[in-house]
Amino acid sequence: MSEKPGFSTRAVGGWRQTPDVRQHPASPPLYQSATFIFDDIDDFASVAQTKISGGYLYSRWANPTVDALGHVVSSLEGAEATACFASGMGAIAGTLFSLLRSGDHVVAAAQLYGGTHGLFGTALARAGVSVTTADVSDHAAIDDAFTPATKVLYCETIGNPTMNVADIDALAAIARARDATFVVDATFTPPVMLRPLEHDADLVCHSATKYLGGHGDVTGGVVSGDGERIAAIRHLAIDTGGQMAPFDAWLVARGVQTLVLRVERICQNAMALARALEDHPAVSRVLYPGLQSHPDHALARKLLGDRFGGMLAFDAGDAAAGRRFLERVHIASPAASLGGTKTLVVHPASVTHTQLTPEQRASIGLTEGMVRVSVGIEDIDDLVADFEQALP
Ligand SMILES: *Cc1c(COP(=O)(O)O)cnc(C)c1O
Repeated sequence: MSEKPGFSTRAVGGWRQTPDVRQHPASPPLYQSATFIFDDIDDFASVAQTKISGGYLYSRWANPTVDALGHVVSSLEGAEATACFASGMGAIAGTLFSLLRSGDHVVAAAQLYGGTHGLFGTALARAGVSVTTADVSDHAAIDDAFTPATKVLYCETIGNPTMNVADIDALAAIARARDATFVVDATFTPPVMLRPLEHDADLVCHSATKYLGGHGDVTGGVVSGDGERIAAIRHLAIDTGGQMAPFDAWLVARGVQTLVLRVERICQNAMALARALEDHPAVSRVLYPGLQSHPDHALARKLLGDRFGGMLAFDAGDAAAGRRFLERVHIASPAASLGGTKTLVVHPASVTHTQLTPEQRASIGLTEGMVRVSVGIEDIDDLVADFEQALP
């Protein structure tokens, strides 16, 4: 070895000369590294065999920053383990492909995120997995939909855009009796509001893009549950490559630190905004589980206590009125996504539910003038004033 390594050698490896620090960082460090260097070659071989436990070898297998996020999400959900993906759909697809084989059947809530409907209709259908959907509130219909091939019962805690609440205790009992794995997408109810594993769900997933990340600056997904199922999901992710990136995990972990504060404020704002809209003469209907008028209010109170989330919908009249509202808001912004600090509004009939006919939309309670709101943390007086000036 030359006394002083060359410029290029130092450019790639020089930073390793940093002296060891004995103090620990107070915030999760970002291990923005694709691979890990082994001083002990026996160790290299043994970590290569274990892949997701016992050490770090390559970031598609495991990365310390991503594991740090998995650890905190597990502790919030009361789960043994968590797998982290590049998006919510990554987590949902990873979960379902890990649980299902060709010939298997899924019973799913009819009220599902569009992307999840899409996954069932395309990639899972091509893989030979069939699905039957039923109204999530109609437990007899859910139970009737089971066949001897049913392996998974799938639902969302709160459905979009009517904010229908799933009775996850009752659904878990059905899944248990039918020996199926119960998977819950709890994106609308982050773990400070509801922990489905405590209600006997087997796996809980989130789009971390929404409340967990919480700032609209990252896409991510997580799925939590028992060690064995999560290890199987992570091994599938090693082969298919949809893991969350270290920087994204770092952003989500940063967001999670303020989850309780954000959700507290968001729930207060949403309740106040829902009440103001309910009193407004131009609004014919408001759908928010926290309102007495919501059909699932009693169930929401049982599951959620007095925090009903940040998602609401209201009927502004006809389709033109719904679109006009979006044009007129100044503080709220017309944008897809949800769960961030900023209030976002969408017109589902022309943006998120366009694959359905007006009749199909009506059948799920989605009216043409409906506006969906993801309530943020702005000052409530500003939000109410903005909504009032945007309504006729
Ligand atoms: C956004 C969302 C997803 C998909 O998450 P991505 O991070 O966009 O992939 C899944 N389920 C629900 C309920 C969502 O709101």
